[in-house]
Amino acid sequence: MAAQVYLDNAATTPLDPRVAEAMRPWLGETFGNASSLHAMGRQARQAVDESRRQVAALLNVDPGEIVFTASGTEADNLALVGTVQASPGRPCHVVTSQIEHPAVLETCRYLERHGTEVTYLPCGEDGIVSPLALRNAMRPVTRLVSIMAANNVTGVVQPIAELARIARENGALFHTDAVQAAGKLPFDLRAQPFDLLSISAHKLHGPQGVGALYVRSGLKLEPLVHGGGQEQGLRSATEFVAGLVGLGRAAEIAGSEMAAEAVHLVALRDRLIETIATHIPGAYLIGHRHRRLPGHLCLGFAGQEGEAIKLLWRSTSWVSPSRRAAHAARLTQASLLMSCSRWDSTR
Ligand code: PLP
Repeated sequence: MAAQVYLDNAATTPLDPRVAEAMRPWLGETFGNASSLHAMGRQARQAVDESRRQVAALLNVDPGEIVFTASGTEADNLALVGTVQASPGRPCHVVTSQIEHPAVLETCRYLERHGTEVTYLPCGEDGIVSPLALRNAMRPVTRLVSIMAANNVTGVVQPIAELARIARENGALFHTDAVQAAGKLPFDLRAQPFDLLSISAHKLHGPQGVGALYVRSGLKLEPLVHGGGQEQGLRSATEFVAGLVGLGRAAEIAGSEMAAEAVHLVALRDRLIETIATHIPGAYLIGHRHRRLPGHLCLGFAGQEGEAIKLLWRSTSWVSPSRRAAHAARLTQASLLMSCSRWDSTR
């Protein structure tokens, strides 16, 4: 059978074997509850604490500012709903963009149904949300601005440092959904004016079903999940120790390999762009040429039927972009998303 070429890393990445190795003991012989006081519980607690340190190191924050969740989606929900519900009874306005992932967009629609006003900023032809548009949208009652760090469909990197500064100058909090960007772009949250940031393990070669929210020290959020008070009361539930160990190890690997990996991926990506531009008439790049994730491509094929391209995917051993990604990328008649990452089928 031909080797498989996987091009859907924006949807999920394969588990790094080093991450699987770190998780393995926690899926078998070592199974304590991190809240138990006996030796096995303490061992689990140490593993969770170590993972928190590893995630904090990736973002350059204090471990106490990391709240573990069950997904990037849950981290986004906690950021948005938790912020709005932390100050009940006050008029509330939230600014986001039209190009957010449904984890943010649908949460904003939920907030609208419960009395919050939401402004959805468009992006330009280059896929970028304009800082000027944000400045114009700010109001005295704007409590939160939520703009993603990099878009999952186009791969375009947003000017979040500038957007966050505008939010702060206007007295609002700033959240960024960094699910696609974390582990691929460097973050230094001690130097950047962000209040909340979401990540998801399975986008950086960690396990599915594990996420985290950075919550700037001192910020008050209303929890979504109530119970035993884990995660500083912000996310009750017995910790998924194996998953958190996986997230921590994935964050550690990403932190040490990201720079070299980016150089490698940008070279591959640019070669692919040039080859496609040379050999396929009518092919074009969607979104800004340079402000994009290292291993991410969003292409349009002028004059090509979407169905024909789907048939091509089926006839090869390439794993095509997910239907949702392809659907969301339908900025033109036929456009496709490709994302590459550090993976080959032999690992
Ligand atoms: N935000 C972005 C930008 C994403 O791409 C995704 C997943 O595709 C999510 C949020 C949701 O993350 P999760 O799959 O961990 O719920």
